[in-house]
Amino acid sequence: MRNSRLWAGLLGIESAVLENIEYDEDEGLLVAHVRPSRSARGRCGRCGRRCRGYDQGQGRRRWRSLDLGVIRAVLEADAPRVSCPEHGVVVAAVPWARHDAGHTRAFDDQVAWLAVACSKTAVTELMRIAWRTVGAIITRVSADIDARVDRLAGLHRIGIDEISYKRGYRFLTVVVDHDSRRLIWAAPGRDKATLESFFDLLGEDRCAQITHVSADAADWIAAVVARRCPTAVRCADAFHVVAWATRALDDVRRAAWNDARRQARSEPRRNRGKQPRGSPPRPWNERAVALKNARYALWKNPDALTADQAHRLAWIAKTDPRLHRAYLLKEGLRHVFAVKGEAGKEAEAPQV
Ligand SMILES: [Zn+2]
Repeated sequence: MRNSRLWAGLLGIESAVLENIEYDEDEGLLVAHVRPSRSARGRCGRCGRRCRGYDQGQGRRRWRSLDLGVIRAVLEADAPRVSCPEHGVVVAAVPWARHDAGHTRAFDDQVAWLAVACSKTAVTELMRIAWRTVGAIITRVSADIDARVDRLAGLHRIGIDEISYKRGYRFLTVVVDHDSRRLIWAAPGRDKATLESFFDLLGEDRCAQITHVSADAADWIAAVVARRCPTAVRCADAFHVVAWATRALDDVRRAAWNDARRQARSEPRRNRGKQPRGSPPRPWNERAVALKNARYALWKNPDALTADQAHRLAWIAKTDPRLHRAYLLKEGLRHVFAVKGEAGKEAEAPQV
């Protein structure tokens, strides 16, 4: 075939011989008949070792390839079996696809990339595959990468955290590398045993190279880190520290709100309805309602406040010094992490 190299390029096949191209116009399907090149033939599908042939397997097989423009494309080839001294009778390896895969390597790689960069719907609709298939592909691709790349090499500063899924019923323990800003490990569960399995994988030598470990204040993390990386500096991560301060601020707000309600209740009933002529009706426990509504104004970063929220804050500053002080302390703490480093250390305490 004159254009066989162009076709091989379009289909992303290497170490293979293109025998024939068929185009089924009704189906909009292009079928490329291929076979592994001589050097790639007769190898174990699992270890790639050259093996003795066993039989012809179950006839021709197809592998979905990347679409060519708007046309779907598949590769078709024989799938003979070989007899591997280590893995027994297995389907022979093909250079264009991973073992046991129904898609070509190029297809797998594109799906795995998309799964990281796009939404679930975008991946499944663009590639015309089920979400379950995406899961199987990611598993294949990551196993392939794990065999070539050591994700745990050269770790110095790591972060450990837990995230929930299934609406907060299940948890994953995740480990990130602060230097490369990448996720390096994750496993179901949030307990000592789960985290221990990460450090087991890391091994003693590499544990000794860890200099900093950030985490929330969970006891199960602290205990394991103290034992496995005794020399590492343990730090609380900024996100959790600010979250604690925000929670403490909300405790103060709730206390102020309860005070206001109690006070409103103790006021004589006849005074409650008294309002200046012509003004819109106001609730008898106005102050309590205002404090309840000030929640978001207190939580938000000052530069993201709406005019109404800024107004609420100004009102708190004027009428409730205790709550306002709590607010300034929270903001002061947030500022330390926002400016970071030396500037953070030198940041002045808020004027309260
Ligand atoms: Zn083998």
